[in-house]
Amino acid sequence: MKKVLIIGAGGVGQVVAHKCAQVSEVFGEIVLASRTESKCKFIADQVYQQSGVRIKTAQVDADSVDELVRLFDQLRPFMVINVALPYQDLTIMDACLEMGVHYLDTANYEPLDSAKFEYKWQWAYQEKFKQAGLMALLGSGFDPGATNMFTAYAAKHYFDEIHKLDIIDVNGGDHGYPFATNFNPEINIREVTAECRHWQDGEFVKSAAMSTKQRFTCPDEVGSYNIYRMYHEELESLTKHYPSLKKAQFWMSFGDSYLKHLEVLGNVGMTGIEPVDFNGSKIVPLQFLKTLLPDPSKLGPRTKGKTCIGCVVEGVKNGEKRSVYVYNVKDHQDCFNELQSQAISYTTGVPAMIGAKMMLEGSWMQAGVWNMEQLDPDPFMQDMNKYGLPWKLVEEPGFDLL
Ligand code: NDP
Repeated sequence: MKKVLIIGAGGVGQVVAHKCAQVSEVFGEIVLASRTESKCKFIADQVYQQSGVRIKTAQVDADSVDELVRLFDQLRPFMVINVALPYQDLTIMDACLEMGVHYLDTANYEPLDSAKFEYKWQWAYQEKFKQAGLMALLGSGFDPGATNMFTAYAAKHYFDEIHKLDIIDVNGGDHGYPFATNFNPEINIREVTAECRHWQDGEFVKSAAMSTKQRFTCPDEVGSYNIYRMYHEELESLTKHYPSLKKAQFWMSFGDSYLKHLEVLGNVGMTGIEPVDFNGSKIVPLQFLKTLLPDPSKLGPRTKGKTCIGCVVEGVKNGEKRSVYVYNVKDHQDCFNELQSQAISYTTGVPAMIGAKMMLEGSWMQAGVWNMEQLDPDPFMQDMNKYGLPWKLVEEPGFDLL
């Protein structure tokens, strides 16, 4: 029954708060802190109405290590679940080290001025966390997160060696807006406009963003979608931890309207992250664009359809070639009915809660900085079935992927 501090009261933070409250036998005391405390209070009221659990709230600017240290000193949490933005990862990790607090996040650190998506900054904390006897769990969302677990589970139970990995993220949901992102717009647009990289024969090969696509038919009548190859951060850790991989790619579905808007916005400079002069002040075009776009945490009531996210893994077992597909399908409206959230926040928040549960219960607890696939996937996969993200595994799915 340990105290957990959730930082970030956005779409994902809302789901994490609800889900931790639902497992109150493990999450003894929950505090939700963010830059704007009123958002925390709103979520805390929602949680109380739904599950009768009272969570505390606090205000913090997580860009400031001093402010974080003061808050940790006051609250003395066992661990932090960081669902603020990737820019805050390192300040929160620094404060954790200073105050002896365990750490978990769902997205790797990014400097504000360059969208690089690299683990190197956080991997550099390995010795410090080991020496302090603290654990940092990186990327415990859906992708990264559940996708790392799907890969690790397949590798553990179905293969002697894995050779090819395709992570396929389909969002078949429709919110009715011509253009909106389903998680933080700034982070989402930085990610999808970044140069594509995929793993091939021991190195990352670059190509233009969105330049490679194929058609993918999801199982369970989710539908057929165009999926586009892009870089995603779990490719870095998975190719490191599974050196037998010869090819690893990440694919995401995008609708034509989303791509048309993104292209136009890019062409006129609205997706840029370099500050520009505007009426005597400096503004970052993408941050300005974010203020105009729908708030992803408010998309829940209007999003209909399903997500289908999974991993196609190929390799060998007992000298025979084989292939498996591990995936989850989640209905946006089911998520809304349960937690007033759309499925992207839901599918991110549930694995964050489960990762924290693995740490609190001790099954994953060990000092150091860890990516998900370095830990035993079995208890995590069991909990996905239990807490709202049931998955299926299909042997020889027969996909013909690039
Ligand atoms: P939102 O923008 O909805 O929420 C982010 C929250 O963080 C806001 O409430 C914001 O507070 C708070 N925040 C931002 N800066 C600070 C700061 N300096 N100090 C304190 N709080 C701060 O984002 P999402 O909920 O959509 O995403 C949250 C995280 O989840 C992101 O890092 C995202 O990359 C990650 N993610 C991971 C996925 C995965 O599958 N692994 C998928 C989707 C998202 P305020 O509103 O007060 O400004």
